[in-house]
Amino acid sequence: MFVGHYSVAFAARTEKNKIPLWVLFVAVQFLDYIWATLVLLGIEKLRVIKDFTAGSMLDSYFHPYSHSLITAIAWSVLAALVYKPLCSWLGYTYTKSAALIVGVAVFSHWILDLIAHPRDLPIYDNTWKVGFGLWNYRAPEFALEIALLAGGIILYLTRNLMPASRKVAAIVFGVGLTIIQIGDTYVPREALTDKATAMGVWIFYTLFVVIGFFLEKMGRRRQTNPS
Ligand SMILES: [Zn+2]
Repeated sequence: MFVGHYSVAFAARTEKNKIPLWVLFVAVQFLDYIWATLVLLGIEKLRVIKDFTAGSMLDSYFHPYSHSLITAIAWSVLAALVYKPLCSWLGYTYTKSAALIVGVAVFSHWILDLIAHPRDLPIYDNTWKVGFGLWNYRAPEFALEIALLAGGIILYLTRNLMPASRKVAAIVFGVGLTIIQIGDTYVPREALTDKATAMGVWIFYTLFVVIGFFLEKMGRRRQTNPS
């Protein structure tokens, strides 16, 4: 799963919980941030193999710290706990329910990966591996990613008050993610090294986080009533 993860971020953001979109963008890819970092450090192992599955070249044969069920739960709890100090540091509205949503957003990554990945997600450590393997079916996997993303963006647009400019920007960003997913799924390319792939994950995901940050700055009036 790639751009489909962002559907959860878009869907989770409401006028009521006021969780910044960029925070949710980090949350839904939190496990992959840890994964990419550990691959760069040589702790988790990845082989990039052309045509490994129809929809992905990634053979993540050792990623027990970022992608086992047990550690995914632990990272989700940690993210929910870290949300409070993050809010007080950056002056965001904090509620317990918002922290819970951030935790669930982190965990959603594992559930969506479970659908797409071949049997490479361990329950704990590096054993009892699961994965429904939708990546073996290129078109259905692609369709699911895009359907999820579209659904998430529609929820974001309907459940949040925002100026027209931001609505357009959110749709343009969705189209951009769709194009990136088309490139990732359908455009033939040579396999990168494991480290270059992990670097690419960091760069692209962080670019999306920056876009999420500026998206919510669009058309925003300066707050004049501190509460
Ligand atoms: Zn993942």
